[in-house]
Amino acid sequence: MLEKYLAGENVVSYCTKCKLNLDHAIVAMEGEAIAKVKCKTCNGTHKFRNPSAVKKVRTPRKKVGSQDTVAVLWQTCISQSKGKELIYNMAGRYRVGDILLHDKFGKGVVRKLAMNKCHVLFEDKERLMASAN
Ligand SMILES: [Zn+2]
Repeated sequence: MLEKYLAGENVVSYCTKCKLNLDHAIVAMEGEAIAKVKCKTCNGTHKFRNPSAVKKVRTPRKKVGSQDTVAVLWQTCISQSKGKELIYNMAGRYRVGDILLHDKFGKGVVRKLAMNKCHVLFEDKERLMASAN
């Protein structure tokens, strides 16, 4: 679904001065994209900033939306896990509940085992990791 915008129309943009998502009027278009907007609160003109895109930029390493749930689940699993803490190795054998330490993804909890693989929940998401199971 492509929404078409025209200069002069209202759009919600992140205001760089007010530091809030506010109503703006479109000042200039660049093809189909909004190039410049004018803030109705401070009257400042600046580049259009998609409110949802801004969120991601402002929290590059923290999770947004559904990923919050993964982090919460991960926290819970780590704290409830009674498994051993092991350095992850693709030739290792693991059990459900083991905590794996991965040099890139950090701490993960084994959630499920599969043929030569295990599902490991890391803080940002679940990954299918090679193992010797
Ligand atoms: Zn403003």
